[in-house]
Amino acid sequence: MELAKHHKVIIIGSGPAGDTAALYAARAELKPLLISGSQPGGQLTITTDVENYPGFPDGIMGPELMENFRKQAERFGTTFLYKTVTRVDFSQQPYQVEVEDGTVFTADAVIVASGASARLLGLKSESELMGYGVSACATCDGFFFKEKHVVVVGGGDSAMEEATFLTKFASRVTIVHRREELRASKIMQQRALQNGKIDFLWNKEVTEVLGSKESGVRGIRLKDTVSGEEGEFACQGFFLAIGHTPNTVVFDGQLDIDESGYILTQPDSTKTSVPGVFAAGDVQDSVYRQAITAAGSGCMAAIDAEHFLTTLEFEKQAMEESV
Ligand code: NAP
Repeated sequence: MELAKHHKVIIIGSGPAGDTAALYAARAELKPLLISGSQPGGQLTITTDVENYPGFPDGIMGPELMENFRKQAERFGTTFLYKTVTRVDFSQQPYQVEVEDGTVFTADAVIVASGASARLLGLKSESELMGYGVSACATCDGFFFKEKHVVVVGGGDSAMEEATFLTKFASRVTIVHRREELRASKIMQQRALQNGKIDFLWNKEVTEVLGSKESGVRGIRLKDTVSGEEGEFACQGFFLAIGHTPNTVVFDGQLDIDESGYILTQPDSTKTSVPGVFAAGDVQDSVYRQAITAAGSGCMAAIDAEHFLTTLEFEKQAMEESV
């Protein structure tokens, strides 16, 4: 059956925010269309154990959690479309959302929950060797580094988590951090600091990844952020864990966005600068960035969208009656 082109609500993104928005919108009988994006299920599909999502005392695997989210949203009437949004036009109602094959869908309300993607250092050698010893996802690629010495760059929770995970495979894991103080939470720091397979290089900036596509990574070039001294450090794998960038390129010029690329929402709401367009999850949250907070804001976005649509309906009726 061909998919309808017009929907009351279109949700962009399929992580905890998008799927929760879909669940609530579906239960409000809005029959939402959810456009998944290039990574269906979002960032949790590339993690292993999720230990801090309430309701799972023994933890749950990220992909399983997201599969449950999807099934629950589908059960109440969400249509999932496994495509990526390439263009939006929020300048007039109904709003337009175009996907990669050129199909244009329209909606009275849109919920943007497109999440965030792993940040890179921006080095030429890093992109050249991506997939050849350089990775931004330890859970996806750790298996390929059995008995190897790998470097993880970053000082936040992601770096601690990825380094700890990599010790399952690697013979040694070195965390390279640009300062001498970690940003990570105390518990994650402790796990890494107490792990006998992990060591640290403090006050170091990575200036180049050394190696080739043929033979993989053989080391990195480092610069001391205090002394300015440069040197090389041997390793066979290089993992980036330096945070994430919100996926907002497609909304540039359509919605108000802050200097870091996050969609601006009004306080205590998911309303964006365009009436009827709402934002939820990591795409608008530079502070909390947790699955549970993303899910919570997805719920808020669906409720905000429902209120907006009810008002829109009243206004339409009043207009029709006055003619
Ligand atoms: P983050 O907290 O923003 O940390 C990024 C780290 O990378 C920082 O240490 C930062 O250094 C470093 N960094 C950033 N840009 C860099 C660059 N260009 N060169 C070198 N280093 C750079 O990001 P995150 O670790 O991905 O965590 C994001 C959020 O997710 C946090 O709220 C975190 O708590 C959460 N999280 C939770 C878990 C968990 O609970 N299981 C796991 C992962 C993430 P500076 O410190 O010097 O700025």
